[in-house]
Amino acid sequence: MNFRKRTHNCGELNPTAIGKIVTLNGWVARIRDLGGLYFIDLRDRYGITQLKISPDKKEIYEIALKLRNEFVISATGKVIRRESINPNIPTGEIEIDVDELQVLNESEVLPFNIEEDVKASEELRLKYRYLDLRRRVMTKNLTIRSEVYYIVHDYFKRYNFIEVETPILMKSTPEGARDYLVPSRIHHGKFYALPQSPQTYKQILMVAGLDRYVQICKCFRDEDLRADRQPEFTQIDVEMSFITQEDIFTISEGLFKEIWKKILNIDIKIPFRRFTYDEVINLYGSDKPDLRIRNDLTIKELTEIFGKSNFNIFKNAIESGELIAGIRLKNSPEKKIEITRRVIDGYTEFVKKVGFGGLIYLKIDETGKISSPILKYLSEEEINSLLKKFAIENGDIIFILTGDRNKVLTTLGLLRNKIAEDFKLIDESGFEFIWITDFPLLKYNEEENKFEGEHHPFTSPRADHIHLLDSRDRKTLESIRAVCYDLVLNGNEIGSGSIRIHKPDVQKKIFEIIGLSHEEAEKKFGFLTEAFKYGAPPHGGIAFGYDRIIAILCGLKSIKDVIAFPKTVSATSLMDDCPSYVDDKQLKELGIKIEKKK
Ligand code: ASP
Repeated sequence: MNFRKRTHNCGELNPTAIGKIVTLNGWVARIRDLGGLYFIDLRDRYGITQLKISPDKKEIYEIALKLRNEFVISATGKVIRRESINPNIPTGEIEIDVDELQVLNESEVLPFNIEEDVKASEELRLKYRYLDLRRRVMTKNLTIRSEVYYIVHDYFKRYNFIEVETPILMKSTPEGARDYLVPSRIHHGKFYALPQSPQTYKQILMVAGLDRYVQICKCFRDEDLRADRQPEFTQIDVEMSFITQEDIFTISEGLFKEIWKKILNIDIKIPFRRFTYDEVINLYGSDKPDLRIRNDLTIKELTEIFGKSNFNIFKNAIESGELIAGIRLKNSPEKKIEITRRVIDGYTEFVKKVGFGGLIYLKIDETGKISSPILKYLSEEEINSLLKKFAIENGDIIFILTGDRNKVLTTLGLLRNKIAEDFKLIDESGFEFIWITDFPLLKYNEEENKFEGEHHPFTSPRADHIHLLDSRDRKTLESIRAVCYDLVLNGNEIGSGSIRIHKPDVQKKIFEIIGLSHEEAEKKFGFLTEAFKYGAPPHGGIAFGYDRIIAILCGLKSIKDVIAFPKTVSATSLMDDCPSYVDDKQLKELGIKIEKKK
């Protein structure tokens, strides 16, 4: 295609164009004055091309003298071979000998320099996001983000999915977070909610017979933000009819295989490994374990070994039905890990912070000598069984915790991550995709003394667990497992979904268990249960967290750098200063009075 204002972009000219007359448009990235000879780096989204302006071309030289960084210019001239070649950029062998120069727009002095190794604070980068986005790395992140949109659309099209847009102004969805609400001007006192996800709509689309739905959509959750969470984020949302969990896995694995191949040229292995929720909690103390951690570092239950222990802490733990468990940090074959007193103290502090009295350890030195503050309380048999359980070798260390089962496991999980980070045991170049299946259906909220759905309340129990829904025994209800799955990549939950309930009687039982009266259920989800009366197909789906996936593809830890206009940790946008106050007139129209904060 021929465009009128420029013949080429700043990233495409090479020696094959030598001799051609070209016109480039872009931003002045750098100006060098070599004794009167002017060299300008002209930048656009595609790259940088060097312009050469010699003082004997008086008219354009005058213009060049006035140029400053980030002025927008148009330059026309002949492509010539460059004297000093820059092998680092694709256009590094040529330059433009400028004959015509025009300033299209000027720029004020910048609040920060546009450089790859940016030194500006995050606040400044977010306030002047358009300048931050001019940096090559940011442009690259957004380009990868865009490439993935195309891959996703193309992939799902091939498998017969229909893309459907679902409303942004909607009724509250049941993802369990706080809603962002939008007041209705026409119906005073009534509110729309922004979608926490299109969950209810995509299920209704299955009732509508659409069979295979996909949407790359925005979701909004008004949660207290943690460092790397955004109040609005993007999902690849999927729903399918007449399928099993296996079908969802196959479609998902194909998608990731294609994205990884096309973006990183990496062949990831499918099918992904699978673990049940119980397995990962027991082995890694987390439902999103990072399996790139090389050192074995898995949790082992030790309750049996210490069943008859005389050591008070173990004895008490066993009597009160608590858990004794540990992890072993292996020091072979590299023998590079040095576990000093300070390291052990550090880890002790770490577990104390989450409420443990202390951390028990057993260290085996290079000669096989064992040191441990509890050594004198243990029998030889106990020590031997412990060493055997962990297949201990000289140089290894075991950390042990006792207490509430969940707390022990999750804390050992956190300790595992910390040790891996401290001793650099994570294979940063790897991609470990795993499915976690069979999540608990329900979780007990101790504060409110009631059950709630672990996922949203439309998640189906496993067929062989449905009969347990009639029980009112807490343990029995806690033991119910759902056809609910997460996709985990390198320790991040990047996808989550389930097979849905499509039978009204099962749905009713679950509403009852989570304490949702018939009236409340009607009020909240009546439209969905109503729809389900008219021939709901068995269906299920999944949603993938787009921002995190892109961040991982870009090799980044923060999702902010892959979102064009992200919010801060306090959910503000520094560039356009939102949220912001509105006119009294607007409030009046909405029938809203603002109470002064006390
Ligand atoms: N709506 C769910 C979520 O956003 C995903 C799903 O169940 O498909 O987490």
